[in-house]
Amino acid sequence: MINVTKPFLPPQEEYIDFLDGIWSRNWLTNNGPLVRELELKLKEYLGVPEMLYLNNGTIAIQIAIKALSLKGEIITTPFSYVATTSSIVWEGCRPVFVDIDANTFNIDPAKIEAAITPETTGILATHVFGNPCDIDAIQEIATKHNLKVIYDAAHCFGTEYKGRSIYHYGDISTTSFHATKLFHTIEGGGVFTSDLELLKRMSFYRNFGHKTPEEFEMVGINAKNSEFHAAMGLSVLPHMSSILERRKKVSQLYSSLLKDNEIRTQKITSNSSYNYSYYPIVVDSQEVMLDVVNALNKKDIFPRRYFFPSLDTLNYVEGQHCPISRDLSSRIICLPLFYDLKESEAEYIAKIINEIVKSH
Ligand SMILES: *Cc1c(COP(=O)(O)O)cnc(C)c1O
Repeated sequence: MINVTKPFLPPQEEYIDFLDGIWSRNWLTNNGPLVRELELKLKEYLGVPEMLYLNNGTIAIQIAIKALSLKGEIITTPFSYVATTSSIVWEGCRPVFVDIDANTFNIDPAKIEAAITPETTGILATHVFGNPCDIDAIQEIATKHNLKVIYDAAHCFGTEYKGRSIYHYGDISTTSFHATKLFHTIEGGGVFTSDLELLKRMSFYRNFGHKTPEEFEMVGINAKNSEFHAAMGLSVLPHMSSILERRKKVSQLYSSLLKDNEIRTQKITSNSSYNYSYYPIVVDSQEVMLDVVNALNKKDIFPRRYFFPSLDTLNYVEGQHCPISRDLSSRIICLPLFYDLKESEAEYIAKIINEIVKSH
């Protein structure tokens, strides 16, 4: 069976090497030495001054919304994973969807201003499949209307924009280190900001608001991660360059094999370095997409409908309609892409897709 993704597992002994230390210290969680080491190594690897390692990428978005005191309406994208929208609703705010650009799959900045009302306090945008949003245009609008910007950068490990880590941009940038992501710690996430006051606030949130064992600075939640999760991250990190290299190779193979057909992929933003985190394809209609999926499923191959459904159709949001996102959602799939996917498997997958697309 071939799935859309397969978590990268480092050689087992590299993970086990960290366990002796955990056993001898008997320090399992609560900002332990491996958590701090992982934060240091990630900051160094990514070239970012500050970050907080958290227990998942969803709480990272929730903490970012809270730290910026966003209220009322938050402008956001309908084309993302559900956690982007659900976090807004969970924090007691209202998501206002702005449709996407059909080529980059990211929120269309030209449509943002029309959606701003006196209730709007922020913009929460996703760099879809690791492809940077139009950061400059979004920042200009945010500055003009005094709005905060959060980027859901869950797909962006290693992505750069204008020569700097993508995590530099926005008031806060969040990420996920879930097992299915490019770099992972089984479960995990992070927040990035260059504002030290915000960073301090988020570090209180992460640990119940504790100032000392008996004093509480502010309200908080439990967003800590464990030594075991950090150990996985520390064992995966040294393999990132070979992971990226493999994914790039398979992505380029897919592109060369699929190029002669009516298959579109994502337009990558200029001035950015892409991380090959996903391989999305867009076919002419939902019918073709379903035929492709069925043909692959018959061969025990499981691409995934990312992202489906379009988030403006969720039953807990109201009165919104984003036709471009709905149309894209209806005919996009992400092809299998992971570290040890063989070239011959990618060739087999491309052959099946080409046959189905040609037959329509
Ligand atoms: C994976 C993902 C999340 C959620 O991250 P978790 O670590 O699974 O909580 C949020 N947003 C996007 C775009 C994602 O892909």
